[in-house]
Amino acid sequence: MYIFLADLHSQVGKELLIEEDFSPHYEDLEFDTPIHVNLLLTNLGKEVLIKGTIKGIIELICSRCLKKFPYNLSIDVEEIYLWDLPIIRNISPSEEIELKEEDFKFVLEKETLFLDPLIEDNIRISLPIKPLCNINCKGLCPVCGHDLNLGPCECSKDLKIDPRWEPLKKLLREKGGR
Ligand SMILES: [Zn+2]
Ligand SMILES: [Zn+2]
Repeated sequence: MYIFLADLHSQVGKELLIEEDFSPHYEDLEFDTPIHVNLLLTNLGKEVLIKGTIKGIIELICSRCLKKFPYNLSIDVEEIYLWDLPIIRNISPSEEIELKEEDFKFVLEKETLFLDPLIEDNIRISLPIKPLCNINCKGLCPVCGHDLNLGPCECSKDLKIDPRWEPLKKLLREKGGR
């Protein structure tokens, strides 16, 4: 997402509201729906304050059952960017701005801000280290890989029927297992 800064840069105190849905293409993150970006950029003179929210739904993989699940993003953003450009001060909006050639060159060089790194970094920082589809997710059977959220697997049935497992069951019970 590219932001055009020329207008924001023209005067200290100027604000620029970014309200956009955009579909990020980050290699390892999946988005089914666009991310809603709502950011207010304020020209503070030597720097730009970027403040607002990033909201959306991201596909994560549950660390227990390894299934994809939708994760709600709701991120508060507050960042400061430094201007690389010389500040044009005290120009009222109604005044016509006469840009000298060198001013023009400078603005043209840096008139846009590529916002994706800011958005991507904020998304990554907000993600859980161990994502869970549900806090009660039962995960996978360590023997056969069956998703235990869908019910017990053959391994646990074997535990019930096969008498050879009895000593193990007893041991597990003693150790506080089921
Ligand atoms: Zn899960
Ligand atoms: Zn199993």
